[in-house]
Amino acid sequence: QRRTLIAGNWKMNGQKADGLALAKGVAEKLAGAKPNCDLLVCPPTTLVGLVAEAVKGSGLHVGGQDCHAKVSGAHTGDSSAAALADLGCTYVIVGHSERRTDHAESDAVVKAKAEAAIAAGLVAIVCIGETLAQRDAGQTIEVNRSQLVGSLPAGATAANTVIAYEPVWAIGTGRVATPAQAQEVHAAIRAELVKALGAEAAGAMRILYGGSMKPDNAKELLALPDVDGGLIGGASLKVADFWAIAESC
Ligand code: 13P
Repeated sequence: QRRTLIAGNWKMNGQKADGLALAKGVAEKLAGAKPNCDLLVCPPTTLVGLVAEAVKGSGLHVGGQDCHAKVSGAHTGDSSAAALADLGCTYVIVGHSERRTDHAESDAVVKAKAEAAIAAGLVAIVCIGETLAQRDAGQTIEVNRSQLVGSLPAGATAANTVIAYEPVWAIGTGRVATPAQAQEVHAAIRAELVKALGAEAAGAMRILYGGSMKPDNAKELLALPDVDGGLIGGASLKVADFWAIAESC
């Protein structure tokens, strides 16, 4: 019922030559074989337009890594969801832990960004996740529940919203959540979605896992009942690794 989504978050990596090579490499793989999932790359904003043009028609989705909550105006350095859509994006990540930390984004800000994304016709990938200190203090479920409730856009449906659970301690550390840890939080997120949206929408909404997902651990994580895909950082920067994860769906 839920189609797996494998999403690459390139973060602040890539310039024209290597970014285009990476995107085209994935698109070429997609031309030769259809994995059992949707595939998405989220290049830095500087490359989104180029990448979207380069992979047009390939079936590879392109997304932004962030958007502003407003459609336009005096917001130096920001990009609107409408502008991303205009470049050919179909998704945008909002509320990544790096943005929550680097740019002090609150749940309310993330929610407003997700609502702007949906209004622009994009699918919002809403990120949540606990820090190591919060996990060690036994607050994992409560922290994720509260971030989810605070960040979930009004009008969220399975078609316009994806949730990404990214434990902060697993991001870029090589320390991946165990299948039991991931499934526990994903199930709790699903239960909270049932309360917020009802069983049908919650049952159809995709919940991605992110945090040191690699070719050698992807299969096990993606097989979990409430894990519906991956949000992949480091391993999305190499065609072979990203493709290997796509093939483990
Ligand atoms: P890594 O896969 O590099 O741990 O990054 C995960 C992430 O933050 C994806 O958004």
